[in-house]
Amino acid sequence: MNRYAKDFPILKQEVNGNPLVYLDSSATSQKPFQVIEAVEQYYKENNSNVHRGVHTLGTRATDGYEGAREKIRRFINAGSVKEIIYTRGTTTALNIVAACYARARLQEGDEILISPSEHHSNLIPWQQAARATGAELKYFTLEPDGTLDLDKAKAMINERTKLVSVAQVSNVLGTIFPVKELAEMVHRYNGVLVVDGAQSVPHMKVDVQELDCDFLAFSGHKMAGPTGIGVLYGKESLLDEMEPFEYGGEMIDTVDLYESTWKELPWKFEGGTPNIAGAVGLGAAIDYLETVGMDEVDAHDRHLAAYALEKMGEVEGVTIYGPSTNRTGLITFNVDGVHPHDVATVLDAEGIAIRAGHHCCQPLMRWLDVSATARASFYLYNDEADIDRLVQGLQKTKEYFG
Ligand code: PLP
Repeated sequence: MNRYAKDFPILKQEVNGNPLVYLDSSATSQKPFQVIEAVEQYYKENNSNVHRGVHTLGTRATDGYEGAREKIRRFINAGSVKEIIYTRGTTTALNIVAACYARARLQEGDEILISPSEHHSNLIPWQQAARATGAELKYFTLEPDGTLDLDKAKAMINERTKLVSVAQVSNVLGTIFPVKELAEMVHRYNGVLVVDGAQSVPHMKVDVQELDCDFLAFSGHKMAGPTGIGVLYGKESLLDEMEPFEYGGEMIDTVDLYESTWKELPWKFEGGTPNIAGAVGLGAAIDYLETVGMDEVDAHDRHLAAYALEKMGEVEGVTIYGPSTNRTGLITFNVDGVHPHDVATVLDAEGIAIRAGHHCCQPLMRWLDVSATARASFYLYNDEADIDRLVQGLQKTKEYFG
């Protein structure tokens, strides 16, 4: 166990008679006791609704909720808390941009540009927005290793390109997309860049002002925080012009029989009672990650990816997808002649948790010409010994099906 793993109580258990090795953090990460205790303390001592009560608990709940927003702002270096909208996760955040920005502005003749490697959450909302507005959905061409050639990307961006949306890190290939360069290209034609940060924000320093992205979406549960809480960052000028996503309590300024007005940012996008405990937990997760240091998290995950590439590459019959360098802490692979679900089942019997399936990337599976893959993904609580166990498990899988 490495020095961070001791903070994660769930990791101290045996699964199927073996010490648990958790290699599925890209699906959801585990939570340190600091986050679990922050949520517990919120419910035990401070639980109340936000922005309403004049009483002490109401003030504490509001302080916790809004205090976490400031932590998020600082974490991604947004200019103002007005630019930090709480959502249910990345999926909701991307859907808000598609519904409230794209559908309101796009029309026939416009183009939306995404990559075939996108997660369904960053693909279907654009299909639907294109269908509703008459805009055309187009795809970047990827290189054989899943990376993006910037010259080819540049050639596809023009005055018709109103919106480009890409994952900063692919949840299947581990590829790091050049979002800063894409932002420059799309801004030349007054389009916007949407970044799906579900797999980048938990693993590396992401500075929205440095990247100059227009929107950024991410999920708390993939970055040591609770489920059911996530973030949409958007430039204030863009969010200001957008209509709300949901109407109801919390988001209104005045309500009359036939007309209503909205609160200012960010609350205009937060209709209904929000996930207060989730926000408090996400704030605690950010405190935790900042104590470790995002540069340290990034270096650790990349080191494990390089180690895994080397060790897994030595196992005969294992095919690894994605680039050989400059990738984050996840390895997607297949074992010759064994279905990925069978690989995951044999590994589970050894106490090793990996993911198998299409990873919400069916178009990418077709691009790779496979029906499914296995994926091992790492986080700060993993170490080389976990990868050694994975490699032993793969040898066993081969013996079992050999
Ligand atoms: N985008 C990417 C790249 C992802 O990996 C995921 C989740 O796996 C999502 C979007 C969706 O995140 P959520 O299910 O938390 O909304």
